[in-house]
Amino acid sequence: MNQLADIGPVSGLSAEEAGQRLRAEGYNELPSEKPRSAWAMAKDILREPMLFLLLVAGGAYLLLGDLQEALLLLAAILAILGITFYQERKTERVLEALRDLSSPRALVIRDGEARRVPGREVVRGDVVVVSEGDRVPADGVLFWAMSLEVDESLLTGESVSVRKTPTAERPGMERPGGAETPFVYSGTLVVRGQGMFRAQGVGAESELGRIGRALQTVGEERSPLQKETGRMVRLLAVLGLLLCSTVVLFMGVLRGDWLEAVLAGIALAMSMLPEEFPVVLTVFLALGAWRISRSNVLTRRVAAIETLGEATVLCVDKTGTLTENRMAVRALDTGDAVWNLTAEQGPIPEEFHRLVEFAILAGQRDPVDPMEKALRSLGDRCRELAEHLHDDWAAVREYPLSRELLALSLVWKARDDTAFIVASKGAPESIFDLCHLAPERIAALSSRVDALAARGLRVLGVARGRHPDGALPSGQHDFTFDFVGLIAFEDPVRPEVPDAIGECYQAGIRVVMITGDHPATATSIGAAIRLPDPNAVLTGAEVDAMPESTLVQRVGDTDIFARSTPEGKLRLVRALQARGDVVAMTGDGVNDAPALKAAHIGIAMGQRGTDVAREAASLVLLGDDFGSIVATIRLGRRIFQNIRKAMAYIIAVHVPIAGMALIPVLLGWPLVLLPVHIVFLQLIIDPACSLVFEAEPGERDLMRRGPRDPREPLFGRPLLLTSLLQGLVMLGVALLIHLQADRLGYGEGGARGLTYTALITGNLGLILINRSHVESIVAGLRTPNRALWAVFGGATGILAAIWAIPYVRDELFDFAPVAPGAVLLAAAAGWFSVFWFEGLKLVRRRRGFPGKAAHNHA
Ligand code: ADP
Ligand code: MG
Repeated sequence: MNQLADIGPVSGLSAEEAGQRLRAEGYNELPSEKPRSAWAMAKDILREPMLFLLLVAGGAYLLLGDLQEALLLLAAILAILGITFYQERKTERVLEALRDLSSPRALVIRDGEARRVPGREVVRGDVVVVSEGDRVPADGVLFWAMSLEVDESLLTGESVSVRKTPTAERPGMERPGGAETPFVYSGTLVVRGQGMFRAQGVGAESELGRIGRALQTVGEERSPLQKETGRMVRLLAVLGLLLCSTVVLFMGVLRGDWLEAVLAGIALAMSMLPEEFPVVLTVFLALGAWRISRSNVLTRRVAAIETLGEATVLCVDKTGTLTENRMAVRALDTGDAVWNLTAEQGPIPEEFHRLVEFAILAGQRDPVDPMEKALRSLGDRCRELAEHLHDDWAAVREYPLSRELLALSLVWKARDDTAFIVASKGAPESIFDLCHLAPERIAALSSRVDALAARGLRVLGVARGRHPDGALPSGQHDFTFDFVGLIAFEDPVRPEVPDAIGECYQAGIRVVMITGDHPATATSIGAAIRLPDPNAVLTGAEVDAMPESTLVQRVGDTDIFARSTPEGKLRLVRALQARGDVVAMTGDGVNDAPALKAAHIGIAMGQRGTDVAREAASLVLLGDDFGSIVATIRLGRRIFQNIRKAMAYIIAVHVPIAGMALIPVLLGWPLVLLPVHIVFLQLIIDPACSLVFEAEPGERDLMRRGPRDPREPLFGRPLLLTSLLQGLVMLGVALLIHLQADRLGYGEGGARGLTYTALITGNLGLILINRSHVESIVAGLRTPNRALWAVFGGATGILAAIWAIPYVRDELFDFAPVAPGAVLLAAAAGWFSVFWFEGLKLVRRRRGFPGKAAHNHA
């Protein structure tokens, strides 16, 4: 937004005063936004069913008089608590950091300078500047405003926006809902204009704090993935509970040993409880959001992470996203002569001076807009222009750009002149219109515009007018303008964009460019970034005139939308969705919010974007650049893939454990797996599935296959089958080892120890082979994964301790001594029991599976 507010005489608080107030009166936030405390987190963990089972098992051991076992279990409980706590803390911290980043910023004046601070650091007495699209950060009284309109529906329920007028006095606050009053309220939305106010109520002292309603921050709705996992967990939990109670009853009644029956039931319950599924989801999505934030993108709704992998069309703004939004003046054209600033060096000839003069006058004195900056710097750089800069003139009024008229005018008052001087610049068509040029003149000038635009330059027309002293008209059309000339700007394409677009096309994602610019400029930029058909352009007017059905058809093969409007954007999203596309769309302005909301993935600009756009979006691009959108899509696909891998591993590993807990009961053998054993397996499984798989870099062809079909389930049949098969083979090997050890006379304890060894090494093998569902483990070793080595080290340590320390082996784990050769053999058998999967991967690679799956767009 242009900053017309003249902060000259306003000095605001000093930074020191503000700091003191912040310490004395606290942050500008509502009590409900406080982060979860460590204690609250611990309480949540204690409610976990797994822990409950462990506690019951410990009690059972105590009743059995097995103090050592009970203590071991206690240690394991502490270890698992520690891991869970660490994970939750990490998740929570990540989310907190993200929340901080996404909390609205406020523009305050401190020490006489405008400064952006986090909204929660605004204090009582601060001078706050708000513009279109901002959330008001505190209650206060306006002392300056220009066409300020505010939507107070959050407080009043009234959806019509109200006008606000400043006052010179310092009255007390009143209740919200008043039009033409100087009061603005925290949480309300600026829909038009600008204002400056002094903050009077912050945090709980604001009107919003008093009604105690927190603003909706990060969206919490459950994603399809979470729902599907939830269903799976419920199913498994019910099945598990049924099976366990059957086992307890069965054993209790048949063998009469109820304590043993309870232990077996608990072991079985622990082996079947799918508590890792929700953990994996939370941890992966939170860490995913963190990873995404490192490529400079903020996740506001986690569901967007999974939708990213499904996106088929990416609609992006041209200026600032595909280009750098760093403008440089390249050509001046008076309608008779052209002056190129690249080719000819030396002073700008006299005949172009007036053009530069009025172009500069049609902008701010301290511009933020890149085009205005470019003009200013041209004026400052060229000595011959010095007398045209008029630093002693005063800006009286601005007529902003609007959707109906793409022109911006400034009215100036010179010292020695009673009349107003008006300078206007804007889209050439709009300037021609303001100057009431004859059709022949328009035609002649338009071909000059086209010639400049075809070079990829953005062209502005410039006009000047005079207005007699007196009241200023309400619109720009009421001035009398003379045409002055055309100015062309170059806005370089971001260097990484052409390759990133190539990557999108490889990944089956179409890129659509949307711009407010001239069609010829858009075509030239489209060619520079290598869009497939830069000549197919639709303008906003054409889109507006098109019936729905035609538009649906045309969006399929049009990649460029020029002179587009926010309303056009919304229609575009709808039309693409009607074709079955999954749409990601960028936007920054207040008017973009509906399109951002309607898109499957709304992406707001962090730099230029308004609070309104940000709140409507699911992702915020902190650096506004296209490269990070593509990086985020890649991460989204990777995160989904890793979730799938982790889940596949969880399913696979639970089969042999549950099997070894259940089969002996059914066959009337002595129990093989007791709760202690399962707890130590859990100590490997937990970090493995959350840390190892989360850190996987993703398959090599991640961005070479089409988007995932939204209807495709997380646990598809092939995935489920391979996982079950992995687990079943491992179970078979474990059973064979048990039988064989029995036959060879190793006794109950020996057989149990050997089986357990095979289960642990098999588990490690499972982790290793499931890192990639396509690449061989050898290829996998080249991609480092620190968590993997930690898990391997821990597991080997446990195994070594078991077999090297008789006390651990005999007393804690209830095993018995066996020959070292047998241990090694069992370990090898477990380890290799899963390696058949490597063969399957080889076949997949040969066949190019899953290969370049067909996608919607060739
Ligand atoms: P984009 O979608 O490429 O960012 P904009 O919507 O910002 O384009 O601008 C659309 C058109 O409005 C520009 O091509 C230009 O003609 C006009 N325009 C934009 N900013 C200004 C400005 N500061 N002064 C005059 N005209 C402007
Ligand atoms: Mg723009």
